[in-house]
Amino acid sequence: MSSSIVKPIYFFDEADGNNRALLGGKGAGLAEMTKLGLPVPPGFIITTDICEKFYEAGKRLPDGLMDEVRKSIKKLEVSTGKKLGDAANPLLVSVRSGAPVSMPGMMDTILNLGLNDQSVEGLARQSKDARFAWDAYRRFIQMFGKIVLGIDDRQFEKEMAGKDLNDEKVLRKVAASFKSLCENTGKKLPDYPYKQLELAIDAVFRSWMGKRAMEYRRQYGITPDMANGTAVTIVAMVFGNTGQDSATGVVFTRDPETGVKRLYGDYLVNAQGEDVVSGKANPSHIDQLPGQMPDVYSQLQQVCEKLENHFNECQDVEFTVERSKLYILQTRTAKMSALASVKTSVDMYHEGLIDKTEALKRIDPEGLEQMLYPRIGPQVKLKPVAAGVAASPGAASGVAVFDVARAEALGRRGEKVILVREDTKPDDVPAFFLSAGILTTRGGKTSHAAVVARGMGKPCIVGCSQIEIDTESCSFAVAGKTIASEGQKITIDGSTGRIYLGEVPTVDPEITSEFKEILQWASEMKAIRIRANADTPESATLARKYGAEGVGLCRTERMFNQHDRIAIFVRMIMAEDDDERRKALAELELLQRSDFRAILKEMQGLPVTIRLLDPPLHEFLPKEEELMMQIFELKSSGGPRTESEMLRREKMLRRVHELSEVNPMLGHRGVRVGLTFPDIYEMQIRAICEAAAGLVKEGVKVEPQIMVPQVAIVNELVAVRHLFESVKREVEHRHKIKLKILFGSMIEVVRSCLVADEIAHVVDFLSFGTNDLTQATFSFSREDAEAKFLPFYLEKTVIPANPFQTIDQKGVGRLMKMTIEMSRKVKRDIEIGICGEHGGDPRSIEFCSAAGLNYVSASSHRIPIAILAAAQSAIRSSKDSRLSRFLSD
Ligand code: ADP
Ligand code: MG
Ligand code: MG
Repeated sequence: MSSSIVKPIYFFDEADGNNRALLGGKGAGLAEMTKLGLPVPPGFIITTDICEKFYEAGKRLPDGLMDEVRKSIKKLEVSTGKKLGDAANPLLVSVRSGAPVSMPGMMDTILNLGLNDQSVEGLARQSKDARFAWDAYRRFIQMFGKIVLGIDDRQFEKEMAGKDLNDEKVLRKVAASFKSLCENTGKKLPDYPYKQLELAIDAVFRSWMGKRAMEYRRQYGITPDMANGTAVTIVAMVFGNTGQDSATGVVFTRDPETGVKRLYGDYLVNAQGEDVVSGKANPSHIDQLPGQMPDVYSQLQQVCEKLENHFNECQDVEFTVERSKLYILQTRTAKMSALASVKTSVDMYHEGLIDKTEALKRIDPEGLEQMLYPRIGPQVKLKPVAAGVAASPGAASGVAVFDVARAEALGRRGEKVILVREDTKPDDVPAFFLSAGILTTRGGKTSHAAVVARGMGKPCIVGCSQIEIDTESCSFAVAGKTIASEGQKITIDGSTGRIYLGEVPTVDPEITSEFKEILQWASEMKAIRIRANADTPESATLARKYGAEGVGLCRTERMFNQHDRIAIFVRMIMAEDDDERRKALAELELLQRSDFRAILKEMQGLPVTIRLLDPPLHEFLPKEEELMMQIFELKSSGGPRTESEMLRREKMLRRVHELSEVNPMLGHRGVRVGLTFPDIYEMQIRAICEAAAGLVKEGVKVEPQIMVPQVAIVNELVAVRHLFESVKREVEHRHKIKLKILFGSMIEVVRSCLVADEIAHVVDFLSFGTNDLTQATFSFSREDAEAKFLPFYLEKTVIPANPFQTIDQKGVGRLMKMTIEMSRKVKRDIEIGICGEHGGDPRSIEFCSAAGLNYVSASSHRIPIAILAAAQSAIRSSKDSRLSRFLSD
């Protein structure tokens, strides 16, 4: 073989433990531990390069590889004083998989290789324990049969069921029956150990392309440049199944749930490794080990300490005790809960193991979300009845209600309600406020229900197609079986998408001191400002608590949607004459003024960007079918009780017809409404100016910003600016003060990007509305895209990521860059930010920092995530620039 070029095999004591790409994580870890002087059994690694060669050659082991393996086994024989296949003192080995990126349990491993009918007797004599030898043999046949010969493990399990595996005679019979199971396949379990070894190596390489492994790589986005194959690690066996002074287990150097510094794990006495992992037996908690094996426990503590000090990360360690002697068989970075990863990162900084930058880099921003919401308690072992798409995190319990009006009524009485619907509409929003959680059977992560629920911080599951709602009987069914009727308690977990029957106990989120510390560090490190999308004073309070530096988007229509207000808004739309209309507008103005006042006050002089009315007016009226139904019902029930009741509905229906549009998304909305019904914008602008003026006179610092949605043409802005200036002058004059209010435009229409220079002349700031801009750039309507073809596109990688979650850098991103450049040419200091859901997406934040935006605005609940993501991208970019400076020197 081409071993002159590529060295195919490395022993643990000669390999470079940093080279995970070549040795796989498991091999590299074993090499590193050997160098540290930890008790690792001897062994060697066949590199991932050989795995690549194996596949290049059409799944064939490279010529000459087995000669190299044979030489290496000889070396192992020398160091262990045993011999592979020997009838007197046999060497047994494990043949283990291990890729450069951890893929726990996704590939195969064979233990006790080297046993046959002769060597098993040798092992029995040598160990003076025939039960143990035959136990090892039956395990080997089972693993080999399953992995190499492809026999269903259940067949072996069936043979063993109910048998006393502590009895040597029984084990002999089991081994014999296992062997015949193998022969039934027409293949044979080879006696010759080198043949066993060859087939095992071949099988481990094959498991790289096994279904499980491929699916795992797809799920976790592990690409060939991250991991090119699996290494095969061959390790001299040590035995945890040689009696009461032997054991096997797994230990974490810190508690992976809480991050507390103490050993955490499980072990089993008189067992082999796979018994613990497979979950077939009930292991003991590691806390019991000091009582049973005090010396081993204290050694294990020392090993863990040494490993942490070396790797500076919490480790997940496999160990085996053979006749009171401790061996370490694997170490890897532990997977931890968000809580634990925050705690350990901060603790390790204070312990002097890592610096702040390293601590920040370790925490997954998305994971933080887990910490900010109530969750299902870890002790809960209930089975969910169904699962949908996790759309807005947190867990909530309440009575299932299938009707919006009933949900509102119950909610107002203080009852906890879970609103269960096929899908939701803007009309349903008042019911959202009064529900503890929302569950829909249709829609994706950016469906209406999902977006609104996330904005409110309410737990939400969408697209749960397993559930069928029967609106007649007010119940829902799963697989044709009725599960819950209206009024019954259910629990939804919007972090996992799982639905449970009854009230499941939840744990409240806690802002730990470590969490605060991490946020503090991240705020110092980041290079872009973080603002919040907040429509209510409560949400603004939360945003400030998490460290937001202003409100980047305050949606005024959300305020109208509150229950008591929608009626006034409807009255304004329905007004017969100017007088009536003015009256309704005046009422709305007072309400809006107090809303703005509360938010401005809460933000204490930080900028608050208020968007003028955006949706089309018909969104505030009942749906056409609904009205027709009501009219029909009134008529068929013998006529209305009062004439006016009927007239009111007929009038409303007429108005709905007048306002109805073929395509509301592209219709009469945003600034288009602002110009055609100028008194609405005027009312809103006055409410903002008055709120600001009132606070200024009280000595409260304020910085309101007025933002116009859906702008496509500069003249639209000119007209609104004109209105704004005149209202502002009038308010200033009345209160005899000067107001500082910035005026800006949303950039969410493609044309506004193309004329960004014109727009820049008229405004003080720009804010990208990336949701609408994405829709417009792709000509995708978001809901249709996500319901119909985006999942397919993503699966087939037609598109690398959902552009509604992560900014499409090539298309939308290019428009954004162009806009930034054009507008800054006109106004160097023009403030530019983004609002919309992308503001809370770590990858989008990275893009926004790089593109030179002044801020991103994310939903209040995602502020910590955004701050951390911003810090991480600052760390990365400072490293990149250091690197590029270094390269250019
Ligand atoms: P996985 O990646 O699925 O954990 P491993 O290769 O780590 O597979 O092995 C499975 C189990 O067998 C583990 O518990 C491991 O500790 C144990 N094991 C592997 N090699 C040996 C060995 N040489 N001696 C004793 N136990 C071993
Ligand atoms: Mg393992
Ligand atoms: Mg928009």
